[in-house]
Amino acid sequence: MTVRSRLSRLPTLALLAIMTAGALIPTMVPAHAADAQAPNGRGPHAHKPGIKPNGGAEDASDQGEEGPANGTPAGPVDRRTLSIGRGDTLMDLLAEAKVPTNDAHDAVQALRDVYNPRRLQVGQRVTVLFEPRRGGARFVGLEFAPDPLRSVSIARKGDAGFTSSQIEKPVTRKPVAAQGVIRSSLFEAGAQAGVPIAVMMAFIQDFSYDVDFQRDLQPGDRFEVLYEKLVTADGTEAGDGDLLYASLTLEGEDMPIYRHKTRDGRIDYYNRDGESIRRALLRTPVDGARITSGFGMRHHPILGFSKMHQGVDFGAPAGTPIYAAGRGTIEMAERSSSYGNYVRIRHNTEISTAYAHMSRFAKAIRRGGRVEQGDVIGYVGATGRATGPHLHYEVLKAGHQVNPRSIDLPTGDKLEGRELQAFQQTRRTLDKLFEESRSGLQLARTPGPADEKSCNKATSC
Ligand SMILES: [Zn+2]
Repeated sequence: MTVRSRLSRLPTLALLAIMTAGALIPTMVPAHAADAQAPNGRGPHAHKPGIKPNGGAEDASDQGEEGPANGTPAGPVDRRTLSIGRGDTLMDLLAEAKVPTNDAHDAVQALRDVYNPRRLQVGQRVTVLFEPRRGGARFVGLEFAPDPLRSVSIARKGDAGFTSSQIEKPVTRKPVAAQGVIRSSLFEAGAQAGVPIAVMMAFIQDFSYDVDFQRDLQPGDRFEVLYEKLVTADGTEAGDGDLLYASLTLEGEDMPIYRHKTRDGRIDYYNRDGESIRRALLRTPVDGARITSGFGMRHHPILGFSKMHQGVDFGAPAGTPIYAAGRGTIEMAERSSSYGNYVRIRHNTEISTAYAHMSRFAKAIRRGGRVEQGDVIGYVGATGRATGPHLHYEVLKAGHQVNPRSIDLPTGDKLEGRELQAFQQTRRTLDKLFEESRSGLQLARTPGPADEKSCNKATSC
């Protein structure tokens, strides 16, 4: 295995100054065509160094301004970029780079202050730095970026060993708008519009108070989202930020929700009128993202609410987590003949909810225990009298099963006064941001029938 290296023109003193200031020399360019003869397969590979002495260095001490030493001419530094091979440790990589064992050991020790070297992944590129000297190059440090947001470096500290530092790259939050028409599932529509899965999960979670995803969604319903993408200064996408705004349009009725931070610092989602989306009970007490039955149920809505059937069935794959619909005390968690594994939660003196046919209970779910809304209490199964895996869900009022639809328990958390005014400002800002972001994008959307648009705000059209 060969390690090839090239000289870069970066002045040594400047480099050391930047490193000592806790900065990292960023951006190794991808392997060049010139590197095509680099050995394939496992083991360290050399890459052409693509260094930008003044362009991209993130310097914690001066917020990316050019360091004063940057222009000082001095000797070149030899950079060797290698990859961690399968089964290799950082020590192996340094040995491959011909770093003396003592130096390598000290460097790895110094690294432990900011990064656990065991977390280095196969394929992680590490740039090893040498200062050319008469009688052989001297190892002066190394650097790598374990993720797009972070860079880690080790630098020789005179003759006193090595120091390590870690730089968090500043990110900006870029708003992204997306919208789509639901054909078979919300998830599919989201994927088609390029919305990240985590954002769709948050979306579903936030609407779980109001929407029964198995029954309420119809083909042709629409969604809109405004979410953030985290972007570093060099344009690298580094994950998703918050969901800022979302709207579901069910049978022509818009249900927008907005993320808002109150003056005492609480962050929550509110509807257009400044009412918290949270309710005492979830409408969809299973992981809404995994419900698979699609729209089939809707052709026979009577199945869900017939007189014979005292609850609501949610078809979902076995093992899908079941959530406590609301905060309360567990009244029962036991096996009963036709209900199978069964949990009942008492929410207040009047209202309880019950969950049947579970494959198993979640850990620590036992009679007398307390649960919060959204706690996992068990998993979908087919125990008891069930033809296939599903959650049988009941809402009981004074001990009698009632239609969950007839129970609406708002939390009463409504913004008022100056808080409401602040929220209306948030709302206007987000509405505007959505329109701006949307007009700047090519959207993967299929427009719905024109008549759907005309009844946007009506509740009966
Ligand atoms: Zn049932």
